[in-house]
Amino acid sequence: LDRSELELNSFISEILNTLQTAPVAIGKPLNFVAMRSPVNISVDRDKFKQVLINLVTNACEAVSVGDPITIQIRESESRRICIQIHNGGMPIPTDLLPQLTKPFFTTKASGTGLGLAIVKRIVEAHDGELQIESREGIGSIVTVQLPLFLS
Ligand code: ADP
Ligand code: MG
Repeated sequence: LDRSELELNSFISEILNTLQTAPVAIGKPLNFVAMRSPVNISVDRDKFKQVLINLVTNACEAVSVGDPITIQIRESESRRICIQIHNGGMPIPTDLLPQLTKPFFTTKASGTGLGLAIVKRIVEAHDGELQIESREGIGSIVTVQLPLFLS
């Protein structure tokens, strides 16, 4: 890992600005709920960008044009931070949840099935955790939990 300190609010909003014009995100508002104060973390910038791109792309692929996606930063217990990506759409069947992060698992006609496997590997390499929940009427919420940078 090539770690450096970065400020998460601005890092995410830059990535979302770029992603909003990607074909998969056209007509799907990427709503960002940032934290009020700066959030400093120590991560591999390029790998962490890949995490966000993979998760937001999955969220976009799960919804129809007109449906919003919400990306939110939250404080978590014991000096950790959460990034949550929430999309509506069909819930993921509960029995599939443990399969999603396995390499090459996909439910898409032309999916690679590698996106979440890569996300999980990168997040865990940063001492973080990946969690995926899905429920009827709520949709799917993917949570990345990371340690805060302590200087
Ligand atoms: P791919 O996107 O190529 O299928 P991923 O590893 O990114 O591979 O995702 C694996 C599977 O997990 C997807 O095929 C889909 O079934 C499910 N999935 C991932 N993210 C979401 C999401 N946000 N909403 C609904 N299903 C999802
Ligand atoms: Mg994917």
